[in-house]
Amino acid sequence: MSVSRVIISLLLPGGLVVALALGLFAWQPRPSYLQSFLSLLPWLVIAFGALLGWRFRRSRLLLMLLMVMGTERLLAALPAGSPVFYTLAWLRLLLPLNLLWWQLVAESELLSVACLRRLLFILGQVLLPLVLWFSTQGQLWYWIQHDWLLPQPLSSYCPTCCHPIDGCTTQALIAMALCLLTALIRFLRQPGPERGAQLWLVGLAGCALFWPTFSLPWRNYLLQIAALVPVIALLESSHAMAYRDELTGLNSRRALMEFLQRLRGHYTLVMVDIDHFKSVNDTHGHDVGDQVLKRVASLLAQVTGGGRAYRYGGEEFTLIFPRRRREPVLSHLESLRQRIEDTPFVIRGTQRPRKNSQGITKRSRSSRADGQKNLQITVSMGVAEGRGIAPDLLFKQADQALYRAKKTGRNRIC
Ligand code: GH3
Ligand code: MG
Ligand code: MG
Repeated sequence: MSVSRVIISLLLPGGLVVALALGLFAWQPRPSYLQSFLSLLPWLVIAFGALLGWRFRRSRLLLMLLMVMGTERLLAALPAGSPVFYTLAWLRLLLPLNLLWWQLVAESELLSVACLRRLLFILGQVLLPLVLWFSTQGQLWYWIQHDWLLPQPLSSYCPTCCHPIDGCTTQALIAMALCLLTALIRFLRQPGPERGAQLWLVGLAGCALFWPTFSLPWRNYLLQIAALVPVIALLESSHAMAYRDELTGLNSRRALMEFLQRLRGHYTLVMVDIDHFKSVNDTHGHDVGDQVLKRVASLLAQVTGGGRAYRYGGEEFTLIFPRRRREPVLSHLESLRQRIEDTPFVIRGTQRPRKNSQGITKRSRSSRADGQKNLQITVSMGVAEGRGIAPDLLFKQADQALYRAKKTGRNRIC
């Protein structure tokens, strides 16, 4: 796990959204259009999040929206509404417990019994105070609020909170700490925009509920941003799904085609194909084949001379050199081809864990005592250049050149 990956997935898009949102809220004096936007924001977050959750079939996103924005709406209604039923102390306990649970359960189908059960579970918590209030003439609910949630010395724990009954409780603080710790561990184990967003969500919800000096508008606004961050992260990851190749991390064929549509002037296009790749799969298995693809992709991504690497499909890659003619590009391609040929690809033997295996090719160069094999990978390249030519035609020319490279012995550039 690289530190830069951890930092980037925390900052993008989560950190950026939070920074922008806080800047917007702190803007004083607030123009009237901004004021109107901010008063619409909770409903926009709910509508936008529900739409995306439904379209992307993310039941957890929908349930999380329901929990966070439900808390936000109840909080907004508290001063004028019914503080008897839904106190801040109750919400402070419920939201962290629900967020903790929501992080640990698996994604379920939207229209499934499991999802319906989860929905009823959340609604049940909202109805519980009402049921307890009416069924026991308030006694049981009063006992939960005063004797269980707020045992005496703790009621003075947080004197700045709006009402003694709304103070922080030990139970709620423990639930929040557990929730934050879980989000942090999950993020560190698998850093990425979506887990980064979950960490922001829990952190912002924690600040909104527990920071003693925050005013009610601040608490509400932080909850709205907490719900917004995972929604934006979902958009970000769906964009990555469309434009990035999942296996190699290179830009995908869709990104290549869109880039070519926008490209003006002269450019050089190179088709790259791994030699005898089928025999790598046949000899060492598909997993090792995937490792080779990743390794070749990472070398291609380091191409010099202003080139950009894309995965075209299968074991074929494309390099594009915008505003470059063929001749100056050839030396960069030659050093790339040589580098791939010279890079030792290592397959670990069965005695060793395969975790760090790096690659292979059709034939072994050497076998070592610890079961490792150094294998050699080579690639062939076909080059075409053009200006104002339809990309299809240029692909055809590059393919013909690649075919010649294969026919004349492979591991070469034509
Ligand atoms: P040549 O030197 O003529 O290019 O021979 P080749 O064996 O590389 O070419 P061929 O087109 O016969 O085989 C390509 C193989 O690539 C077949 C296919 O199973 C494999 N392949 C395509 N995509 C993937 C992938 O994502 N992972 C793995 N492991 N294999 C893949
Ligand atoms: Mg091929
Ligand atoms: Mg091939």
